[in-house]
Amino acid sequence: MTRIHLSKADVGEAEERYVLDALRSGWVAPLGPHVDAFEAEVAARCGVAGALALSSGTAALHLALLDAGAGPGTVVPVSTMTFAASVNAIAYTGAEPVLVDAQESDGNLDVDLVLEAVDTLRAEGAVVPAVLAVDLFGRCVDYDRLEPGLAERDVHLVEDAAEALGAVHGGRGAGSFGRSAALSFNGNKILTTSGGGMLLSDDEEVLARARYLSTQARHPVPWYEHSEVGFNYRMSNILAALGRGQLERLDDMIARRREIRDLYEKHLSGVSGIRLLGRSGADRDDDDNCWLTTIAVDGPGARREEGETVADGIVTALNAADIEARHVWKPMHLQPLHRDQRAFLTGASERLFERGVTLPSGVGLTDADVLRVIDAVTAHLEGR
Ligand SMILES: *Cc1c(COP(=O)(O)O)cnc(C)c1O
Repeated sequence: MTRIHLSKADVGEAEERYVLDALRSGWVAPLGPHVDAFEAEVAARCGVAGALALSSGTAALHLALLDAGAGPGTVVPVSTMTFAASVNAIAYTGAEPVLVDAQESDGNLDVDLVLEAVDTLRAEGAVVPAVLAVDLFGRCVDYDRLEPGLAERDVHLVEDAAEALGAVHGGRGAGSFGRSAALSFNGNKILTTSGGGMLLSDDEEVLARARYLSTQARHPVPWYEHSEVGFNYRMSNILAALGRGQLERLDDMIARRREIRDLYEKHLSGVSGIRLLGRSGADRDDDDNCWLTTIAVDGPGARREEGETVADGIVTALNAADIEARHVWKPMHLQPLHRDQRAFLTGASERLFERGVTLPSGVGLTDADVLRVIDAVTAHLEGR
């Protein structure tokens, strides 16, 4: 049997056409027309005024946080249930990350808790310039409540939409919330440039300043003139071409991932205590991009070795069946790197880490592949 992957990049004829055009046009030197076009197309897609194509999502987060005032002597509350890059980007600025727990239903940031964190930190005298909110697994944070809550407190919102391109919340696109937002086009994301990212904002000044910092803070004069430390963060024309090919197919890719999620729901929901994150009862996921489908097993969870969690047991069983499945992000407050970091916790993200598994969700999967995953999960949980 062939191995089933979690989320393999899916590139085809459209991508070939664009990349070939980039090569033949002679625009191999870093910037070029595909970069400008890719920025304009993604900005339009997300519903923001402008965009800056960068070498990674982490670079986009770094620039977004610098712009929002993160730096030495400040603290930035951030979702603890996230990939390391979110918290690393805060550390790059010299600010101190404060880790905030998730809500049980979908693993996204607990809005009440983060607002409480801001108030508590401020009451202690901390400077809190911004909150970094992560849209987990392609589903937006509850911005209906977070946006006004932060505006009231005069705290900037920075959106880590690295996993959420194409998702919608309340009629607005992921990447359009807050002062600025970061997208990632890493190899496993819903849209890939093999590696890359983008900063989005409605504020042209934010983008202009980030553009300048991303090109070694070079002043626009005929010679090389610099008055501060900059970065080499821009995306190349060839990779932007690849991204334009992918963007043409984004809606199809989201539709296929949704079909895969529907199939999982049809066969898994309610079996042996399984629930799909973001898909419980009235809490539907019709606007998610369905990047990765994640289950949490709230029942006893079948066979597992002594000392193993439910998630360990499922991941081991699936790997033995040649199926790539993963734990949900290990919360940042449980990481050796962040063990001593300030945190506001309810236990929700820890429970999700013990009981949550991300299932293969890539566009290239056939229905038969998905059924094979479903069979392996149910066989394990039913102790077959
Ligand atoms: C992938 C990811 C990033 C980082 O993006 P890169 O392009 O890999 O630098 C940041 N935050 C989250 C939540 C991610 O999933």
